[in-house]
Amino acid sequence: MGGSKMEDNVMKEVTHDALTGLRDWGAFFQDVKKSVTMSRRSHIVFVQLLQLKRINRKYNIHVGDRLLGEVADYLDKLDTNYTAYRTNNSRFMLMGPECSREEADGMLVRIRSRFQENWEIAYEGQKYDVQAKACLIHFFLEPMDTELDLLDKMNHAVSVFRAKERKGILFFNEELNADMLRKRYILNEVRYAVEHKTFQAFYQPIYDCNEKRFVSAESLIRLYGRDGTFLSPGEFIPMAEENGLIDGISWIMLEKVCAFLGEHPDLPIDAISVNMTGQQILDATFTRRIEENLEKYGVEGSRLRIEITERTITDDFAEVRKVMEYLSEKGIQFYLDDFGTGYSNLSSMLSLPFEVIKFDQSLIRMMDGTDKGQRTIGLLADIMHENDYSIVAEGIETAGQVQNAFERNLDRIQGYYYARPMPGEELAEFLAKYPGVEKTRENMSEDA
Ligand code: C2E
Ligand code: MG
Ligand code: MG
Repeated sequence: MGGSKMEDNVMKEVTHDALTGLRDWGAFFQDVKKSVTMSRRSHIVFVQLLQLKRINRKYNIHVGDRLLGEVADYLDKLDTNYTAYRTNNSRFMLMGPECSREEADGMLVRIRSRFQENWEIAYEGQKYDVQAKACLIHFFLEPMDTELDLLDKMNHAVSVFRAKERKGILFFNEELNADMLRKRYILNEVRYAVEHKTFQAFYQPIYDCNEKRFVSAESLIRLYGRDGTFLSPGEFIPMAEENGLIDGISWIMLEKVCAFLGEHPDLPIDAISVNMTGQQILDATFTRRIEENLEKYGVEGSRLRIEITERTITDDFAEVRKVMEYLSEKGIQFYLDDFGTGYSNLSSMLSLPFEVIKFDQSLIRMMDGTDKGQRTIGLLADIMHENDYSIVAEGIETAGQVQNAFERNLDRIQGYYYARPMPGEELAEFLAKYPGVEKTRENMSEDA
């Protein structure tokens, strides 16, 4: 077959990196394929130079280039059983035969010690003593691994390395492999669910301590994988945020909530909130899409609330404020979600027109133990009230916590104590059964 012959030819050609003379990315992948086809297990070492840009800036780009040359030379001569590659700007790979885990570790320790010393670079008659840091990851390429596995392993390992590797070397072990497979599984399920809109919306009622009735509800996404297992939003939402899937999710949820509100014009609560991200607010189509959904289902803006977690509002507060003000005029108010978990700039955050601050569960738990915790929450609540915010206490589970919330003047309560998140139709029944006034948990359980 002509096609495969051409492929054979391409396979044979070894390509090199112009700067260092090492084999390049293409050559690396050919060797990976070869190793896999021959059912070999190979040891792969990944060396990523860190802060190369900073080095280029500190000295100059030629010094940076020479450093790459030195590192290339070092890796090339390190061990005759290994082949060295430069696979992109600051990344090098080594590929060698199967060896024991001890031998593999030994090799990495050698590389790490080299990076603990400086690199002497000569350029135009000058000598530079350059310190270079590197991210060192290694693993065994299994005979059944595909190119995709290899790329996934490297990407996953780099993110783990960045997040927590302190010793400078990361071995891609079974645990990381399991993490990676789980992540892949979840992302596949989320992608499928976005495409086929198979998410469900659940609703959790929120009780108002002054009005003594349920005044609103929060919509919470629910997802079952195609194999029927439940996937927790606490796990998949952060992954969706990292992988550009959160936008699709949010719009699906917003539409579901608007449709539900449209179908239940007499629902005895004021509003339902939807979780969205700070980045989305800055999207040029944000307000238009919200207005379109409200119009499509004949829903007043005042029946919709938007919850934003502080961690997702990272920049451009002025622009965020403009959009929030515009929507507030249409009656759509905003809740600051998960207050107490971020490290954000409090004054910038509170300069935004939020109606409600939701105290995160972790903050609420502070009231459980000590007087000090209770006083702290009480003071925080006072500050918020002075600034005209209402407070929702999240994650209230016990009668003691309800009592604390009342005593510290927290305005509203959301938690398993009153109700767990439930499907829309159940919410409608629940609210019909407990329309309000003086409905506390005590007489709710008497009813039950
Ligand atoms: P969140 O927005 O802070 O939602 C409150 C979470 O606390 C929900 O978890 C809710 O089920 C849980 N919860 C409520 N009461 C209690 C309680 O008494 N005890 C305990 N232990 N937990 C309680 P869930 O549904 O697992 O959602 C987790 C997070 O995932 C949410 O935190 C939110 O950040 C995100 N999320 C959920 N649905 C959506 C969505 O539709 N869009 C986006 N962007 N994020 C969502
Ligand atoms: Mg929320
Ligand atoms: Mg929250």
